[in-house]
Amino acid sequence: MLNIVIFGAPGSGKGTQSERIIAKYGLNHISTGDVLRAEIKNGTELGKVAKGYIDQGQLLPDALIIDILASVLDSFKESKGVIFDGFPRTIPQAEALKKMLNERGQDVSVMLDLDVPEAELIERLIKRGQESGRADDNMETIKKRLVVYNEQTSPLKDYYKTEGKYQHINGVGTMEAIFAEIASAIDKL
Ligand code: ADP
Repeated sequence: MLNIVIFGAPGSGKGTQSERIIAKYGLNHISTGDVLRAEIKNGTELGKVAKGYIDQGQLLPDALIIDILASVLDSFKESKGVIFDGFPRTIPQAEALKKMLNERGQDVSVMLDLDVPEAELIERLIKRGQESGRADDNMETIKKRLVVYNEQTSPLKDYYKTEGKYQHINGVGTMEAIFAEIASAIDKL
């Protein structure tokens, strides 16, 4: 089982690189951001709650997002492993993920930290906002998301270093070059 946490700030390229990892290694994919955007699009109760947080650049409460993750994980029947994209984002989420996987006789195999300087993140997100119209990709919300990332999410680097699962990836360069570094880290597992 290959359980990969793809990690990085907003705009670091988690979604793009996840697609490539899935194509090469045939894993299931959980993107909490995609799940929440689908709920918003479908106008569900969860979507209404999620929109309030997302528009403010804030994280959803841990208990809520952990429940969502558990139900998506249970929906995967036969699986070679899972790529976790946008989860965990806090220490309690990381602890919950470890517990969920341990209960299934598994663990996180590696955490890939896509490292991109903040100025480049902002540039990419502004561009994505213009092209895709994603409501949270505007300057005000981007700045809030980066603060939330630095305060609540970035401590996970030390968490996974302690677990012996941390792998740094240079997130600047061509998509191919970044993927090559990722693939070589996965192939060493
Ligand atoms: P990005 O990585 O570009 O910020 P995502 O698509 O992963 O975007 O997530 C969009 C938003 O959804 C986040 O800013 C947050 O509000 C919410 N969200 C996604 N994943 C989580 C999570 N694991 N915990 C709490 N909130 C989350």
